[in-house]
Amino acid sequence: MGRPFFMPFAYYLCSMETAANLGKLSTDVIVARATPPGSGALAILRLSGTGSWQMVFQILDRPIPAPKSHRVYFRNIVDDGAVLDEVLITLFAAGKSFTGDESVEISVHGSEFIVARMQMLLVEQGARLAAPGEFSQRAFLNGKLDLAQAEAIADVIASEHEAAHRVAMQQLKGGFSRELADLREQLLHYVSLMELELDFGEEDVEFADRTQLKLLIADLYARTQRLYSSFQYGNAIKQGFQLVLAGRPNAGKSTLFNALLNEDRAIVSDIAGTTRDSIEDRLVVDGMVLRLIDTAGIREATDVIEQIGIARTMAHVEKGGATLYLFDPSEMGEEDLKADLAVLSKARVLFVVANKVDELAEGSKANWEKFFVENDMQLVFWISAKAMDAAQIQGFLGDVTRRLLGLFEVPPDQTVVTNLRHAEALLRAMKELEAVAEGLNSGLSGDLMAFHIRGAIKALGEITGIIDVEEILGSIFSRFCIGK
Ligand code: GDP
Repeated sequence: MGRPFFMPFAYYLCSMETAANLGKLSTDVIVARATPPGSGALAILRLSGTGSWQMVFQILDRPIPAPKSHRVYFRNIVDDGAVLDEVLITLFAAGKSFTGDESVEISVHGSEFIVARMQMLLVEQGARLAAPGEFSQRAFLNGKLDLAQAEAIADVIASEHEAAHRVAMQQLKGGFSRELADLREQLLHYVSLMELELDFGEEDVEFADRTQLKLLIADLYARTQRLYSSFQYGNAIKQGFQLVLAGRPNAGKSTLFNALLNEDRAIVSDIAGTTRDSIEDRLVVDGMVLRLIDTAGIREATDVIEQIGIARTMAHVEKGGATLYLFDPSEMGEEDLKADLAVLSKARVLFVVANKVDELAEGSKANWEKFFVENDMQLVFWISAKAMDAAQIQGFLGDVTRRLLGLFEVPPDQTVVTNLRHAEALLRAMKELEAVAEGLNSGLSGDLMAFHIRGAIKALGEITGIIDVEEILGSIFSRFCIGK
């Protein structure tokens, strides 16, 4: 496949020097190991570029008569007259490979020595060691993938749990790209009508129906916003959901933190204020990463260090995904609880956790439950951090995670944005669309309106790489691993 049809003209008009480099990039042969370093049963070397088949043929013990794409050949690699390794060679013809260029994959035995030596032999044949992400970059330049899909590859590789894998795969398959392409197309249609209108300006013609444009902009804005809003969820999936443990000293925060992580990370003691700074750790629940943060808690500080600790707690509460507020119902009264909840009112999501139920009198529990109902508090849990067994811990975590997921209200088939670069571009598109919507109400001139629509088109296009994105290419692909 050649360059995609949507590559703009400007793309080819980049400076001569860069254009020359790009040309060189997609023809010279690059080589890299595609498997992780270290010894293993097998390692895979990957070559891409015109002439890569021939380079490999030069180091074999015997020729491959009539070589064909997508065939695997068993041969020996010869190094200075001796057999270096027995390998399997898979050939990919130009246009039928991951990068779009002629390519080869060689499966060798996974020895560091063999891999290094093989790379040397291929470099002697004229190959060049690939830069990080260069294979994916070529795939992008050859129109095999758009930018969002190329980035999804990095996410698929980095995915450590089920949810992250699911959203990365959806992006790789192009769901997000199709949605963006549709948004762009509609905007392009309108901007071309508006520009036509401008050409006929003196005759005062209105091709672009304003009422219809208003409806369209409102619809596009809502769709862009839906994608943008999914980032909060997408980011939480990728980075993990933050769960901040807050509460008064001795409520049992450190005990719960340790119980949930099944280890002694935080110091548990009945001396109030033992945890003076925040500690963070990760755990995976139902395919989701939870980032648990034990804090210094909330209370009146008696010294400067404590004050800092408490300020940090509040910063975590306000920024964090959700707060687990722990309290000891046999120690605290209803007014104290209300006061604490007021302090924590800025928490995005607040779970109230009554701890130490093992010590609580039955009557007292019933009173508290009445209080929770009267105050319409729904996210309340009863636990005993000290006495929880493994099943209870899993049950508690599962409950918290399900409730957290429920709060995002992202339907299962909706595209989820996980990348900050994409979220920023969507936000810019939304701002431009807002300007168009305002313009339509205030009678803004056609050329200014077209300017904002073009701005939105540009922002959406940057996500998939439809416009001139050369300067951001380097920064995206350089974060890839070598051999990808
Ligand atoms: P933090 O200051 O909120 O981090 O509280 P800690 O985790 O250090 O606990 C304070 C005290 O409460 C310790 O002596 C714990 O053993 C005790 N504790 C914590 N959870 C429970 C519980 O569920 N039941 C009982 N009986 N004691 C608990």
